[in-house]
Amino acid sequence: MDPHDEIENVLPPEALFWAMEPFGPPMGEAACSTWDETRFPSPEEQQATFDGEPVVPERDVPQARAMCRTCLLLESCRQYALDSRDEHVFLAGETAEERRKTWRKSGELTKRRRQVAVLYALKVPTAMIARLLGRDESSIRSDLRQLGKRRPQLPPTA
Ligand code: SF4
Repeated sequence: MDPHDEIENVLPPEALFWAMEPFGPPMGEAACSTWDETRFPSPEEQQATFDGEPVVPERDVPQARAMCRTCLLLESCRQYALDSRDEHVFLAGETAEERRKTWRKSGELTKRRRQVAVLYALKVPTAMIARLLGRDESSIRSDLRQLGKRRPQLPPTA
C-alpha cells in the first residue's frame, strides 16, 4: 500500500500536510503584499518580480531588493528561503539563483528532522514514518535521538 494512503487512516490530511511541509512563508505584513507605485509601474509587474519572473530584470530586481530591505518580515523570510529551498520566487532580497549559491548543505536534513519530529509527536509509528519519508527505520530512530527532548510545535488541528 502507498504510505500516503496508509497514513491517511491515521492522520487527517491537514495534519499530514503540515507535517510534510514544515516550512511556511512568514506570516504578517509583508512589504511585497502591497503595490509600491514608487518602484513598479504596475501591481502586475511587482508581482511578476516577486514571482521570479521580472519583466525588466535590471530595473525590477534592484527595486524588489530595496523593498525587502524595508520589510518587517525580512529575517523570517530569509530563514524561510533557506529552509524551504524555494527554487522560483524572489525572497528576502535575493533571486532563487542567488540563493542557490548560499543554500546550506544541511537543508534537506533539517527539513527531514522537522518532519520526523512532527509525525512522531502526532503519534505516527516509527515504521510508518520511515515508509512515508522513504528512509529506513534506523535512520528515523537516529533522527529521534538527535532531536532529543525538543518538542515540535503541533498543528492547530492536532
Ligand atoms: S522580505 Fe521581501 S520577499 Fe520577504 S516578505 Fe518581505 S518584501 Fe516579501
